[in-house]
Amino acid sequence: MAESSSILPGATIGILGSGQLGRMLAMAARTLGYHVHVYSPDSNSPAGQVADREIVAAYDDLDRVREFARAVDVVTFEFKNVPSATSRAAAEVTPVRPDGHVLHVTQQRLREKTFLQEHGFPVTPFRAIHSLEDLELATRELGLPGVLKTASFGYDGKGQQTVRSEEALPGAYDLLRGAEGIYEAFVDFEKEISLVAARTADGAFSAFPVFENTHHHHILDVTFAPAAIPPALATQAESLARGILDALGVVGLLTVEMFVTRDGRVVVNELAPRTHNSGHLTLDACITSQFEQQVRAICGLPLGSTGLRTPAAMVNLLGDVWFDAGGTPDWSAALSDPDVRLHLYGKAEPRRARKMGHLTLSAPTVDEAIRRVRMARDRLVPSRHR
Ligand code: AMP
Repeated sequence: MAESSSILPGATIGILGSGQLGRMLAMAARTLGYHVHVYSPDSNSPAGQVADREIVAAYDDLDRVREFARAVDVVTFEFKNVPSATSRAAAEVTPVRPDGHVLHVTQQRLREKTFLQEHGFPVTPFRAIHSLEDLELATRELGLPGVLKTASFGYDGKGQQTVRSEEALPGAYDLLRGAEGIYEAFVDFEKEISLVAARTADGAFSAFPVFENTHHHHILDVTFAPAAIPPALATQAESLARGILDALGVVGLLTVEMFVTRDGRVVVNELAPRTHNSGHLTLDACITSQFEQQVRAICGLPLGSTGLRTPAAMVNLLGDVWFDAGGTPDWSAALSDPDVRLHLYGKAEPRRARKMGHLTLSAPTVDEAIRRVRMARDRLVPSRHR
């Protein structure tokens, strides 16, 4: 099939991975009249619960992967640590969007930052770390403090640490446990923003408004839009994202996480070749959600309007809420504000730091949206509001 021919409603979308991003993607796909098959090692998964078919198999069972790919019209993924061999096996039979090259570049921090740097996109200075000597040299060249991260398979701040002194270097290096590392010069940022953007096989591009994010223990806590940044910075962030999607040849969605430095520059931190936690508010606040946009982009449909209907804020609900509430959170109390939208991901077992759901609230001003959605989350834990 020609790259640019459309995959129309009625066709079947295959998703590698079956977490909450896959769930919300599957729901958007079904709204548009597509069938959905998901593939992951987990059963009764967040995405499997809402899909037409849930295939439970290992990612390295390449025969099963090919069989899965043969039964669908396009394959996409909802997490970026899908092994290269898996996406290659799927691509032998069906288009994989974004393709394996995008996955390859973005699933390893050193490759990703090298790609960005070589294409002239702003990143913080960094060095590859394979030994304690590398780390000592890197800190002499780039200074302290800095951030030492594992080059592969990190998310939500896992596998990363801020290094502040020479004395801390041996201990920090040991925590890599022999894995390849990356040392990054510390970015003295004023805020963190993200931009979710889509690109079709024909090169059509569309970006959502810039989201502003705050983290708690390295995990996204609150996102709001519009971001409190000057319009020129928002334009700069969007053109950066456009350049990155073009340079990578993305067909689908890609999220660019960025820092805004205290001197007003935008620096790219990380790429995710998929929808993003910070884009969840698009479900309730934008004309087209990030999940619908992903479907449109991978299927070659016209991209939808990304317009924000009203200012909005989203808070994550981690498993901690269940523990703090001593059992079931007080849903009725949170929903007593009629503008609150509740999204739960169908995960049976709450665990600390596990993303279980989120709340979104739209309001006339962004400050009001943030205040009221945080209050709603506080009400989930009875001892916090009595
Ligand atoms: P990451 O896993 O790369 O997304 O990093 C998680 C969080 O750590 C980011 O959202 C930042 O808050 C912080 N961080 C990561 N890299 C740096 C850096 N080079 N300088 C300062 N803070 C950083």
